[in-house]
Amino acid sequence: MTTLTAVDPPGCGCTECITGQYVPLDHATPKNITALLNGQLSNHTGVELRITVVYALRADTSAGAALVESMRVEYEDLVWHLEPSDAASVAVTVLERAENHLSTGGPDDISRAMEGLPPSWGRAARRCL
Ligand SMILES: [Zn+2]
Repeated sequence: MTTLTAVDPPGCGCTECITGQYVPLDHATPKNITALLNGQLSNHTGVELRITVVYALRADTSAGAALVESMRVEYEDLVWHLEPSDAASVAVTVLERAENHLSTGGPDDISRAMEGLPPSWGRAARRCL
């Protein structure tokens, strides 16, 4: 069987999409979308995906204790709901990229960049390792 290596634009009917080397966005499964977000599949979609993350916050805790509960990915009328473990794996990817970015910056850059980074991503990363 052909190995899937990329997600193509919606409606694509190229040779690779027919043979299964690529998958058109409108035929991608939630697992395909997870692989795309994690960089395991190349992004040939040519479109902007919208990603919504839901955090769960238990009683008597503050935002720092929030955990990634689910992730929804959308493009126009296409919607994918990622499983909690997949949502966590995507959060890990985002965290690793953020840390790589931060490691090249100075202390001021790091504190500025950390302001927008949900602290739960670090916990999500540890939970799925
Ligand atoms: Zn194609």
